[in-house]
Amino acid sequence: MATSGGGSYRNGTHRSSLKVDRPLSMNSNPKTSVKSKPLSSSGPRRSSTGSIGAATGAAKDDAGVPGRVRVAVRLRPRNAEESVADADFADCVELQPELKRLKLRKNNWDSDTYEFDEVLTEFASQKRVYEVVAKPVVESVLDGYNGTIMAYGQTGTGKTYTLGRLGEEDTAARGIMVRAMEDILADVSLETDTVSVSYLQLYMETIQDLLDPANDNIPIVEDPKTGDVSLPGANLVEIRDQKSFVELLRLGEAHRFAANTKLNTESSRSHAILMVHVKRSVKGKHSALSSENGNNPHMKTLKPAIVRKGKLVVVDLAGSERIDKSGSEGHTLEEAKSINLSLSALGKCINALAENSVHVPVRDSKLTRLLRDSFGGTARTSLVITIGPSPRHRGETASTIMFGQRAMKVENMLKLKEEFDYKSLSRRLDIQLDKLIAEHERQQKAFENEIERITTEAQNRISEVERNYEDALEGERVKYQRDYMESIKKLEEQLVKNQQKHGFEKVPVGSENDCSALTSNTESSKISAIEEVSELKKLLQKESLLRKAAEEEVNSLKSQLAQWKRSEASGNSEIIKLRKMLEDEARQKEKLEGEIAILHSQLLQISFEADETRRRLDRGGSGKVPGDLDSLFSQVKLQQQEPGNGEKASIAKLFEQVGLQKILSLLESEDADLRIHAVKVVANLAAEETNQEKIVEAGGLTSLLMLLRSSENETIHRVAAGAIANLAMNETNQELIMGQGGIGLLSITAANAEDPQTLRMVAGAIANLCGNDKLQMKLRGEGGIKALLGMVRCRHPDVLAQVARGIANFAKCESRASMQGTKTERSLLIEDGALPWIVQNANNEASPIRRHIELALCHLAQHEANAKDMISGGALWELVRISRDCSREDIRTLAHRTLTSSPAFQAEIRRL
Ligand code: ADP
Ligand code: MG
Repeated sequence: MATSGGGSYRNGTHRSSLKVDRPLSMNSNPKTSVKSKPLSSSGPRRSSTGSIGAATGAAKDDAGVPGRVRVAVRLRPRNAEESVADADFADCVELQPELKRLKLRKNNWDSDTYEFDEVLTEFASQKRVYEVVAKPVVESVLDGYNGTIMAYGQTGTGKTYTLGRLGEEDTAARGIMVRAMEDILADVSLETDTVSVSYLQLYMETIQDLLDPANDNIPIVEDPKTGDVSLPGANLVEIRDQKSFVELLRLGEAHRFAANTKLNTESSRSHAILMVHVKRSVKGKHSALSSENGNNPHMKTLKPAIVRKGKLVVVDLAGSERIDKSGSEGHTLEEAKSINLSLSALGKCINALAENSVHVPVRDSKLTRLLRDSFGGTARTSLVITIGPSPRHRGETASTIMFGQRAMKVENMLKLKEEFDYKSLSRRLDIQLDKLIAEHERQQKAFENEIERITTEAQNRISEVERNYEDALEGERVKYQRDYMESIKKLEEQLVKNQQKHGFEKVPVGSENDCSALTSNTESSKISAIEEVSELKKLLQKESLLRKAAEEEVNSLKSQLAQWKRSEASGNSEIIKLRKMLEDEARQKEKLEGEIAILHSQLLQISFEADETRRRLDRGGSGKVPGDLDSLFSQVKLQQQEPGNGEKASIAKLFEQVGLQKILSLLESEDADLRIHAVKVVANLAAEETNQEKIVEAGGLTSLLMLLRSSENETIHRVAAGAIANLAMNETNQELIMGQGGIGLLSITAANAEDPQTLRMVAGAIANLCGNDKLQMKLRGEGGIKALLGMVRCRHPDVLAQVARGIANFAKCESRASMQGTKTERSLLIEDGALPWIVQNANNEASPIRRHIELALCHLAQHEANAKDMISGGALWELVRISRDCSREDIRTLAHRTLTSSPAFQAEIRRL
């Protein structure tokens, strides 16, 4: 509580120049329109900015942030006694919480209206009370401001209920102290921040430690510079968890109870004071110190942390009732005065502050000294006044309300309590320094070791080099000595040689007597040596010339050899080639000779046989001519085995020699074997185009047809049909065949035959006939198409290929006729039901079948009259496929052209 003189933060001093950052939950809502006495004297309330103060860390202006003391009123519900005793009376107050107003009944018809920052009804939950009364203060403390929460009111109205309930049986009943600590512990970080607590009782102007009741006269210490109030004599317990805090409160409560019993008083006469110190280190702030040492990496981390110190004081005040009124406790008036001294001093101070009085009697009591910061100081303060509903206590209630109203007029100026933590900085610097010293020592030691190591190494190297040098020197010395000795020896030898050469007498080396003789000896030996050398040189020159010549010789011989080798290789290959040709020639000759021999023998045999026949005929022999036939068959066989020009020539000759008539006559022989042989011969003859006409002229065709009709032999049927098929290759013969009922006979054969080869021959014959434009109607009329289609029962691909060929031939003739305009109706093939088989086999995997059918389809498609049936029969899609996929380009083009030229097909394709 700042005095008017010393405190520069008195209400209103700076308020117009300061901003408020954050509105708080306890909104002041001054409504000057309310007509009530107390409200009309609005006083400092008009200056309210709607907030006790900004509780943000940003508000660090030295001037602080203005904030009025916030006051809430809480009504206790009627207790059991009141419910009975006051049953007939209305409550003395009426609350309008939504308007934050309280009406105090004066009498039945009149009441005074008061406005508070918060009006809490008898139904208000403990949680809500905490949130509106205490939470903003707690938050402010966490941000580094001082804060005070006080409860003022008559004994029994719920001060302790509001502040001090532990709520262990019912968590919802937890009071402000417990909830405040919960919020604090949740917000701080226990590694960097500390929370510590003192719990005290103030009674009869004595401060007693509730955590250590023996400590019962604790002095108040004021810092003359900052004006901060502290109780260094009180226990300060660090709190690390909620449980230990609750334990501490319980302990304090127990001590309070015991102390009051001893003092023969009630707790309602004492003030209970809980002090919570929150110390937090603030990160991310730069100080002057850190920027000065910014270049030093070691110092970078050593900027002094900023510590924010917040202090929360929770005061459960003594009962506000006048002592004299309840003077049943046996105290003297003086005692009674002392008991309530603090509370009345508080009231006086608040009055002075509310009225902007020059003197605020802060020093009058311990309570006001302790709370000097909480009223008109730099703390944020919340006051909850508790009232009961009973009309019997109307007077006390009214005085409580007035106390609250006056308190609302007190303005505080909040100041952030921030300071540099030089202590911990110095501690950290010490640690850092120690680390650096140790590191330096380590490095020094390492450096010395290294120097020592290098020195030893260098010494070792030097002695090694010296050793090596000595060795090398010795080696050189020995070598030179040896060389020297050798050259001496050589000279001596030379000398001896020279002496011998020139007939001198041996002069002992080293003799001093005959020095001149030695000199002349040496000179003559020099001359002879020179001569010798020139001689040797000459010899050497000669030698080298000789060697050169020899080398040249060798080279030329070598190249000759290579050339010879080359020519030999080419000669060899020529020889091989010639030899091969020779062999080929020999083989050819051998072959030709063999052929000639065969022909020769054949000729011989034939002429012999011919002679025989002639002789027999001359002799007028019977119809049997086995000899002829034997030769004939042997010829046929031969022809089958070795087909060749020579054989063909001989058959032609045979044909001439035996005579066609004779052969044909044998077709009607009674001897079945003979018939078979004969028909085979005729068939073979009919395969030759040159014979065909002759065979027909001689009645061979008729005979063959007869055989089809009369014989039941499958072989005869097969061979005869083959012969007919061969004959049916030309138009005249086709007409002849048809004229002689050949198609009927072929149809019967087709119906009866089972052998695929027979069927192939018959189908081939009919297929040939199908290609004749003139015979179309007749062929079909006589069942030719049906016969053809009937043969597909045999699934042999050779048979099917012939059937497909016949169909294609027939279709081609028809398309020709339709193009010439001679045919207008739909195809006879379709009439006879060929289409399904055609469609079914249009994509047959055997290419001879597929090709003929593809052609047949194209031909059929060219006649528009067939289109409808082809579409319904699925032939259209086959045509489309052919036009796209057929590997033969001509057929593909034909199919495409056909498709595009047919309006019916085009319409169908479009429709789909
Ligand atoms: P004070 O501390 O002001 O003397 P207490 O807190 O001891 O009053 O309350 C007196 C009695 O009233 C206690 O039994 C308490 O449980 C009850 N009481 C107080 N306030 C309330 C409330 N808001 N709701 C219910 N009971 C209450
Ligand atoms: Mg109490």
